[in-house]
Amino acid sequence: MVREAREMTTVEEILEKHNLGKEDITALLSAGEDDSVAIFRKAREVKNEFVGNRVYFRGLIEYSNYCAKNCLYCGIRSGNSRYARYVMTDEEVLAAARYAWENRFASIVLQSGEREDEAFISKIEQLLRSIREMARNELHITLSLGEQTLETYRRWSEAGAHRYLLRIEDANPDLYRKLHPDDGRHAYQDRLEALQALRATGYQVGTGVMIGLPFQTVSDLADDLIFFRDFDIDMVGMGPYIEHKDTPLYEYRNQLPPLRHRLQLSLKMVAVLRIMMKDINIAATTALQAIDPVGREKALQAGANVIMPNLTPVKYRQDYLLYENKPCLDEEAEHCKSCLETRIQMAGDTIAYGEWGDSEHFQKRS
Ligand code: SAM
Ligand code: SF4
Repeated sequence: MVREAREMTTVEEILEKHNLGKEDITALLSAGEDDSVAIFRKAREVKNEFVGNRVYFRGLIEYSNYCAKNCLYCGIRSGNSRYARYVMTDEEVLAAARYAWENRFASIVLQSGEREDEAFISKIEQLLRSIREMARNELHITLSLGEQTLETYRRWSEAGAHRYLLRIEDANPDLYRKLHPDDGRHAYQDRLEALQALRATGYQVGTGVMIGLPFQTVSDLADDLIFFRDFDIDMVGMGPYIEHKDTPLYEYRNQLPPLRHRLQLSLKMVAVLRIMMKDINIAATTALQAIDPVGREKALQAGANVIMPNLTPVKYRQDYLLYENKPCLDEEAEHCKSCLETRIQMAGDTIAYGEWGDSEHFQKRS
């Protein structure tokens, strides 16, 4: 009897519930195309009610592709010798930050390969202070610089960083192990502790996962969403995994779901997360656009409310290829901005120029 009753629960009935359990989440993520329309509609309603139809810009600065880590999926892993390694100059970083400030983006993300040496840590500290001074404290800064010690997180926070993005990549420790080398420097527990250290330091904490990885199941993805909820996360940036031929994980490319399927699954992840965590910030990530030119706009319609226009100087973009078909490799910031404006309007949203767009969830908690 119980089994029959469960089988009869429709997507509509699940969408009426106040709290989604793992079975509900799995059913939503497994929904076919027709039912997905209802999920996206519901997510859009929740978005409009709780965070509005406003999209926040985060100007993305890909500071350096030097990385001490060797994640098995990432094009800029230390083991890949195909790319010329670069570090942006202070002037280039400040020019990109100035562009964001003058164009009223109100917020930037400084992202890079992971380094823990003192020269790197103090350089970031100094850049944060310079950006703060240049923009008269009007830019909010997100860092995405990997796992660091509590002390480093504290130093960067004191120097002016407000938010930090560190993806758990996959919340299942067994899968995490399959995606990283077994060398003692890529441990799931370290990643978890880094997220806890970020929370303890007072950052708005963002995390996320890759979707459509080899070995990953829908049950894993449901657990990822539950992980975000249990961690009470403030922001999420998640998107499709896209293979890169110079990485060890490329070997499993034939086991991957087709790209279209990965896109659809990513959109459902965004929508279900919006339904579960109504007032967090959710990014429409660049990897969506690598599959579909309007992938990010589809994510906005499915509940996302943050977009990261790329402000990295064009000359470096070919060397920051995390995955294949990365979009906008030759588009200057100005072009990206005007093209985004039109597309965001088409998605029924407006850009919240001049607003920091802090996570409402974070503001309520703090
Ligand atoms: N090094 C920092 C870190 O790992 O947190 C920040 C930069 S890292 C390139 C940013 C994110 O890129 C990672 O968290 C990972 O999820 C994503 N990424 C790397 N390789 C990818 C791939 N092949 N497909 C999709 N996303 C990928
Ligand atoms: Fe380095 Fe981040 Fe890429 Fe891992 S995902 S290899 S830490 S840049």
